[in-house]
Order: sequence, then C-alpha cells, then structure tokens
Amino acid sequence: MNTNMKIGFIGLGNMGMPMVRNLVKAGFDVKVYNRNKGKATNFAGDLGIQAVSVPADLLPDADVIISMLSDDNAVRNVYTGDNGIFAASRDKHLVVIDMSTVAPETSRQLAWQASAAGIEYVDAPVSGSVKPATEAQLVIMAGGKPEVFEKIKPILLTLGKSATLLGDHGSGNVAKLAINLFLGITIQGLSESVVFAAQHGIDAAALLPLINESAVGSGITKIKTTNIINRDFSPAFALKHLRKDIRLAEDMGLQTPAGLTLAQTLQAALESGFAEEDMVAIYKQVEQGHNK
Ligand code: NAP
Repeated sequence: MNTNMKIGFIGLGNMGMPMVRNLVKAGFDVKVYNRNKGKATNFAGDLGIQAVSVPADLLPDADVIISMLSDDNAVRNVYTGDNGIFAASRDKHLVVIDMSTVAPETSRQLAWQASAAGIEYVDAPVSGSVKPATEAQLVIMAGGKPEVFEKIKPILLTLGKSATLLGDHGSGNVAKLAINLFLGITIQGLSESVVFAAQHGIDAAALLPLINESAVGSGITKIKTTNIINRDFSPAFALKHLRKDIRLAEDMGLQTPAGLTLAQTLQAALESGFAEEDMVAIYKQVEQGHNK
C-alpha cells in the first residue's frame, strides 16, 4: 500500500486513539492534535509521533486531515474556528475526512466552505466501537466525490474492513444515523426483554446466552452480554453520543414509535446521570422504569 500520504489527525478520544495507532502501524506519517493538550502530548510521546498545539499546525505537511470528534460543534470548531484548518491558506491540494457522527447538513455546509478554500471534503463516519477500531475492522460509510473517495480509500481501509461511498456529501452521515437508530432500538428491545424475564424469575445470565444462540441474537447482543450480566457500564460508546445521534435523527424528522421511545429512554438516562457511561446503560434506565 502507498503510505506516502501525510496525515494530520484531530481528536484523540476513545475512537481516535486506536485509529491513529493503526495508521502509524501501517506506516503513515501522522501528526496529531487534541483539544486537551496533555492527552495529545502523552499519546504522541508513547507512539513516537508529533503533537501540535492548534489544528492549523497540522497543515504545512499534511495531504489529508482526519477528524474523529464528539459532535457537530467540535467539528465546526476545528475546521472553521480561529487556528482552524480552513483559515490556514495553502496551495497544496488537501483532503479533509470527517469520521465523526454529525448531521448530514453539517457535512454539506463544511464541504461547501472547504471547497471555497480549495479543499476537498469527505464525510466518512464509522460503525463499530473501540474493539473494531483497535482491530481495524470498522465499517466506513462515506459521502463525497468519487475521485476523492478513491484517492483516500487506502487510508480508510487501514482503519476499517470496508469503505463504501454512498453518494454526495452527507450521505455517509445519513447511513450512520440510520444504523445508530437501529443500534439504540436493539439495545432498548434487549433491555426490555431482559427486564421482563427477570421480573418473572429468569435472570440475565440465563437469558442472554439463549438470545445470542437464537435468531434474534446479533453482533451487538453478543458484545453487550457480559456488560449487562456484570453490570459493567464503562464507556466504549458513551450514552451521551447516542443521545446526540438520535437527536440529530429527530431534527431530520424522525417520529417513529420505537425511535421516539428510544429518544425518551436516552433523555431519561441523561437525567439519571448516565451520560458518560456506555450506551448499554439504556438497560439500567429501562430497569429503573420497570421498578418504579
Ligand atoms: P470521545 O471519546 O468522547 O472523544 C471525543 C473527542 O472530541 C476528544 O478528542 C475530545 O477532546 C474532542 N472534542 C470534544 N469537543 C471538542 C471541541 N469543542 N473542540 C475540539 N475537540 C473536541 O468520543 P469517541 O467515542 O471517540 O467518538 C468520536 C465520534 O465517533 C463521535 O461522533 C461518536 O458519536 C462517533 N462514534 C463513536 C463510537 C464509539 O463506540 N465510541 C463508534 C462509532 C462512532 P478532549 O480530549 O479535549 O475532550
């Protein structure tokens, strides 16, 4: 694989860190920026790469900028804010890949602003949590120009097991929000099932292996089984991020019964103080509701 492209990576959260490790392991020349500077310095030091103090400092060398950030505001900040990527003028052709989960409209606006600065923009959000990120097994869905997608595809395939272009800017975000709607509804359904069984004498440790062996078992029910049984809600995908994703879908007109129930559960879970816990804390919220 051609690893000549120099990469500036923005956002060293749960997902960003393993993604950078995979890029470095594959031989790419990577520099990193993170809002919390101490985190960036320690992480870069461990990997033997350079951390910079503002996003624009990634630019002199970079062919490609990748961002993996919490939400729409964070993404706008690093691209359009002071010392952001778009303001720093340059004459080399730059491609920006935003892999965060954000609104399709945010990607369309940023793509338009990028093009005014002579920069190509691709939204490329991911399905898969920390383990798939660590194992370079993410499922990547993209929106942007086909020729730009082809150029960056080798980078995407360093991070994931598949990379699919779905259409114009924002298309990747639409697919990602659809998948997370299904993810949330699945965990809501799983939680209701486990709570129902428990109320009638079958505990989670007995029920979940049966679910996983049956036709309704899936990748996500298997992954979250030990979390539910051990009541381990340490975050791989923080509940606040799933609330953000479902809010974005609601902003786009989502009004389905299961979607709205999920939104209510997530909102209640935030109010219960579960924001920083894993999204499987939906289970705790459903349990609380049933025990009232
Ligand atoms: P995370 O652990 O919460 O990390 C968020 C990152 O965004 C951190 O680097 C944080 O910097 C940075 N950030 C937040 N607000 C910022 C701002 N205003 N300006 C600049 N930087 C800011 O999140 P994550 O789990 O890695 O997720 C990242 C994205 O991927 C989210 O959009 C999420 O929905 C999506 N996603 C996550 C998963 C998952 O399983 N975790 C799976 C698929 C997709 P600091 O270190 O300074 O706080």
